[in-house]
Amino acid sequence: MTLFDAFQPMAVIATTPHATQLLHPLCQSLKTTLYVPATLPLIDTTTCHYQGSLKTHLAKIWAENRAFLFCLATGAVIRLISPLLKDKASDPAIIVIDPTGQFVISLCSGHQGGADHLAQLIANQLNATAIITGASHHLNLPAIDTLGQSFGWRKGPGDWTGVSQAIASQKTVQVIQEGGSRLWQENLPQNHPFYFGFPEIGENIQPKARIWISATKRRFAQASTLPKVQWYPRVLWVGLGCIRGTSQGLIASAIEEVCQTYHLATEAIAGMATIDIKADEVGILQYCQDKQYPLLTYSADVLNTIKVPNPSEVVKQEVGTASVAEAAAIYGANNWFDYLGNRKNIDVKKTLLVTKQVIKSDKEAVTIAIAQSELEYTGREGKIYLVGMGPGSLEQITPAAKMAINKADVIIGYSLYLDLIKPLQRPEQIVESLPITKEKERAQRAIELAIWGLSVAVISSGDCGIYGMAGLVLEELKNNQWDGNYPSIEVFPGITALQAAAARVGTPLMHDFCAISLSDLLTPWDVIKKRLTAAAMGDFVTALYNPRSQTRQTQIIEAQTIFLQYRDENTPVALVRCAYRQDETVILTNLGEMLTHTIDMLTTVLIGNNSTFTYQNWMITPRGYNQVR
Ligand code: SAH
Repeated sequence: MTLFDAFQPMAVIATTPHATQLLHPLCQSLKTTLYVPATLPLIDTTTCHYQGSLKTHLAKIWAENRAFLFCLATGAVIRLISPLLKDKASDPAIIVIDPTGQFVISLCSGHQGGADHLAQLIANQLNATAIITGASHHLNLPAIDTLGQSFGWRKGPGDWTGVSQAIASQKTVQVIQEGGSRLWQENLPQNHPFYFGFPEIGENIQPKARIWISATKRRFAQASTLPKVQWYPRVLWVGLGCIRGTSQGLIASAIEEVCQTYHLATEAIAGMATIDIKADEVGILQYCQDKQYPLLTYSADVLNTIKVPNPSEVVKQEVGTASVAEAAAIYGANNWFDYLGNRKNIDVKKTLLVTKQVIKSDKEAVTIAIAQSELEYTGREGKIYLVGMGPGSLEQITPAAKMAINKADVIIGYSLYLDLIKPLQRPEQIVESLPITKEKERAQRAIELAIWGLSVAVISSGDCGIYGMAGLVLEELKNNQWDGNYPSIEVFPGITALQAAAARVGTPLMHDFCAISLSDLLTPWDVIKKRLTAAAMGDFVTALYNPRSQTRQTQIIEAQTIFLQYRDENTPVALVRCAYRQDETVILTNLGEMLTHTIDMLTTVLIGNNSTFTYQNWMITPRGYNQVR
């Protein structure tokens, strides 16, 4: 299952027959090996014996696994792993599942090792409860040591434990963010402990910890006892020019040197930018490959449009633009992410941090300028999960859909649905709700974030591919000349309204049926009428979606008239409102009387066929063609 990829390789360990039975199906969906002692029988080829003691076996496989899952007493697990633990930056995630399979405990490496997240994913899969004891999780706050992970930020130096403790004890923590996305700030709970920026004169703020989010390298004074940490968002674009044949070595040392001089963190470098005629410059290419930096190249004409501080007539004569390094850095920083089109008004002063610097050695020379982009480069490949969340209750969501919701960096949907799935969310997640009429904007936003590098779950009620968001997202991708790969798409089906409604009244959909939406906002009413007539003529059991809204009152009346031409007025009709939600109502009526009841946008109307009957308050459509009643 792709959702677990980030945690592979993973080792699962059971020491009793009961634990083996419990974990075996999980291992199959996780595609991991289940280790059992030599004294237990092997279930199939996915189980594997370990020889000797579990302690020695663990030591042997410790380094090669990113996560370990035990079904064993927590005490035993603690004794087993304690000699192997080194530090929280590199230790694997440790998960313990209780023998009843009801609880999934994140035991160790909850944040950086991902154990908290993995425990939640497994709990979703097993329909169990995740036990997460980290303080930030319970406060619904993002963990500070994983804060920038989804945005591709690099972790800098600092007292991470000290800052985490200050947050956990809800002391004031100052955040100075000079670059990178502020989306995380918009998603904090109301009583968060962060203070943003610098206090005004006279304002009495005494922070107990400080977080810098910046491309500038801060030097933390030894004497200060205030715990501080630094995240580096990758916002720096290095504009490069060089004499043909300049070596990778000089380019590397020149960039290091310039960054050092200007107190910029090399960790904050997003990538390189230059003129297109340098696209084959070996030194630049090797350097970018080594560092895994993207290389942006622009034509002389494009670079010429940028007003730079240090234009050169000589360069202009040679390559057709008065600036390579400065212009490429500025243009790259403003346009590397071009989903929304090129920026027209570039603020050179705001963007350019380091003007042209020339570094020479022998016959080699490199020119460097550095600009800061507003949006950071994530270095990640984005994904879109198109998720159907079923009719409403958490129990009616598939485990796969739950996992996708829990896994995503961002959740996008209509606020009513987002409220229903709140228990599945993680504090780190960015949640964006858009009004019901803004479906297209929702799709565009999802695509924009995914192209940027985030994983985005787009939530629809019911099934995402039935009058849902999935189609809109794919249409929008097509409009954007999507290459079919990036961002990648995965669709998670859900129980659609007609199934949910049917389940509440019996088996009305037992034979051929169809769904028709009465909403004529995106479809001409004539077309809908034609389909209603065809369905009625064809004796299809018919589910009517979007039957009536405040502004669309007459469509349901016309639909009834059409059906009455082909079906008896006693034909059973079910009106199911808010199926599987708190305010659910179910009404069994008939075609003649259906309009005497409430029908609105939260209702699904099921009209039986000529054979549908009711019995003891159940609506039943016969299964067979030959059945004569
Ligand atoms: N993608 C959704 C449908 C969205 S269209 C799905 O597959 O179910 C919206 C319409 O679906 C509503 O007007 C209503 O007719 C129906 N609907 C959605 N959820 C419902 C629920 N819980 N109970 C009854 N009808 C529902």
